[in-house]
Formats: sequence, C-alpha cells, structure tokens
Amino acid sequence: MKKGNTPQKKRKRVDWRRVFVCLLALVMVLALVLPLLSSALLSARAVTQDELRSQIASLKGAASEASDRKKELQDQLKAIESDKAKALQRKEILDQQLAAIDAQVANTESQINTYVELIAQEEIALSEAQAREQAAYERFCQRVRSMEEAGEISYWSVLFSASDFSDLLDRLAMVDMIMEYDNAVVDALVAARQEVEENLAALNASKAELDEQKAQLDIQRSEQASKVAEAQALFDELKTQAGAAEALVEAEEAEIKRLEREQAAKEKALAQKIAEANFTTGSGYAYPLPVSYTRLTSYFGPRTHPISGKYHNHTGIDIPAPGGTPVTAVQGGIVITSAYAPKSYGEYVVIAHGNGVTTLYAHMQRGTRTVKEGDTVSQGQVLGKVGTTGSSTGNHLHLEYKVNGVRQDPRLLFPGVTFTDGT
Ligand SMILES: [Zn+2]
Repeated sequence: MKKGNTPQKKRKRVDWRRVFVCLLALVMVLALVLPLLSSALLSARAVTQDELRSQIASLKGAASEASDRKKELQDQLKAIESDKAKALQRKEILDQQLAAIDAQVANTESQINTYVELIAQEEIALSEAQAREQAAYERFCQRVRSMEEAGEISYWSVLFSASDFSDLLDRLAMVDMIMEYDNAVVDALVAARQEVEENLAALNASKAELDEQKAQLDIQRSEQASKVAEAQALFDELKTQAGAAEALVEAEEAEIKRLEREQAAKEKALAQKIAEANFTTGSGYAYPLPVSYTRLTSYFGPRTHPISGKYHNHTGIDIPAPGGTPVTAVQGGIVITSAYAPKSYGEYVVIAHGNGVTTLYAHMQRGTRTVKEGDTVSQGQVLGKVGTTGSSTGNHLHLEYKVNGVRQDPRLLFPGVTFTDGT
C-alpha cells in the first residue's frame, strides 16, 4: 500500500497544474465565443425540451409495457379464477356424494342397531327357553327319582304289582301315558328353544350382512373423503395462485400510476419550458394564408346563424381557400402537436410561440404536414396545405388562437387585415 501511494500523490500534483492551464485556456475561448453564447443557450434550451420529450416518450412506452403486462396477468388471473371455480364445483359435487354415503352409513348403522336390539331380545328369549327346558327336564328327572324312591309307585313296582295281565296292560298304558306326557312337554320345550335359536341365527346372519355392507360403505366413505380432501387442496392451491396473481396485477397498476404521475410531471415541466420560451423571430403575427383569402365562413365564439338560426360555439375561424394553398406559421415557435385526427381536426398542427401563446391549424390535406412535434419553426414557414380532412365539408383553414390555454378570437392576431363575411 505504501509503495503504491507515492506515485499517486505525484500524479495528483501534475493534474492540478494541468487543470489550471485548461481553465486559463477556457476563459480565453469564452471571451472569443461570447457573441455566440445566446444562440448556444437557445440550443441548450431546445436540448432540454428534447430531453423532456424523449423522457415522456420512454415513460409512455414503459407505461404501455406495464399495461401489457397487467393485461397478461389479468388473463392469467381469469384462467386461475375459472380453474378455481371448477375446482370448487367439483368439491361441492364430491361433498354431496360424501353426504349421500354418510346418509347410507347412518341408515345401515341404525339397521344394525335394530338388529343388535332384536338379537339381545332373542338372546333373552333363548336363555328363558333354555331355562324352561332345563326346569321341565329337571322336573321329569325328579318325578322319576321320587317314583323310584317311593318304591311302589316306581315304573317297575307299578308293572310288577299288577294283579293280572289285564291290570298289567292297564298299568303299562298308564306308565306310557305318563312318559308320553313328560316327553311331549320336553319335546315342546325343545322345539320352542330350537325356534328361538333359529330366529337368533337368522338375526345374526342379517346383522353380519349389514356389518359387511357397512364395512364396504366405510371403504367408500374414506375413498370419497380423500377425493374431497384432494379437491379442497387444489382449490386452496388455486386460491393462493390467484392471490399471488392479484398482487402482481396490483403491483403493475401501482407502477402504471407511478409512470403516469412522472409523465404528467414531465409534461408539465415541458409545457412550462415552452411557455417560458421567448421567440424573437419575426415581429407581430403574419397571416397564415395569402392575404387574398380573408373571407370567413365561420366566426369565433358563440353565434346564432342569421339564416338557419342554428346556434354554434366555434373554437376558431374558418377561412376558405383552394385545396393545396400553403398554410404558414403565424410566428416562430415549437411544434407541440403534429397529428392526424380523422374525426375532428383532420391533419393539424399546434405551435407554441412562448409567453403562453399557441396557434392551431386544422383540416390540412392528407399527408401534407411538413413539421413534426418538437420541431422549431420560424415565422412564415410552411406547415402543410389547405385541405378538408377531419370534420370538414370543404377546403378551408380552421385557425385557433390560445393565450394561457384560453381560446381567443384569432382575428385579434391580425389587426391590419380586413375580413369579409362569408357566412
Ligand atoms: Zn372551423
């Protein structure tokens, strides 16, 4: 670092000496070119205006690009919104289907619950039948046992105590009857129990079928629920995308507004510069057409036509002249508009003359404009040719005159000209 510092300091001293020599030379040159300074300043002002114009043009370009981007984003947003609406619709249908499945599940569950209740009742009935059967069987066994224990009234004693064969047969029949009766009671109870068992089996089979149905429905339900979740996720994703696109559109809108504000400021500055400009070319105002054309077919301002009685507020004066007659600038200035407006002024030019004065020349022949915006023109310079473009019914020059933005009677510009009435 130390090594590098020394030569740098040396160079610096040499530079200062050179600057001093240059300054001396500059002063001498300035003294020589002083008479040319005013024109140099004039062109400097023109450059500043040109700069402003090019800045305005580039701001317009940027605003139009931003506007294109905004349009594109809005299209994207529209597509996302449409997808979003479709996703929502799909989700709603899936929700309805899910609700239908839920209803089926609920219905099946309530059927199952009914079967559970019936099965519980039947199980109670079964245990009661089993108890009755058991009790009857026990009573039968008890009877047999007590008959056995009593000895004489046992089956065997009944049989063996018969007095004769006929008595034996009677006794046998009686034993059979008793046994048959006991058997019938037990059989009836067994049959009743079996019926309950059959009912129970049928109920259990039905319930098993419903359980199977419900298992199927549960699978369907979980599949449907995952479809709904997918649709919801898609919808949420699209919502996020739409939000992002909206934010971008808003950002572009803010950018467009910012550019427009900047453009308006530059335009104001340009208008200010033009208004402040003082053009010294020519003295007074020169007539824009050969002086033989001074007959007016329309005057400036509010006027009721003497014959037709039609009311008209005219923004300038109409001077008829043959098509092709040159139209010239009434005073030097800067062209602030040179354009074609097919529905109003036709081919027209606006010149700012400084001090807030502007003049406008309208309805010139198509393609005859010889100046463009930003051009400096001198008094008497040809701007175009008389024509009948735009809102016009015959060859004429429509001339307007403004002071600080307020329209005036253009005749005021030419105090030495005598106009004749051609209305
Ligand atoms: Zn007119």
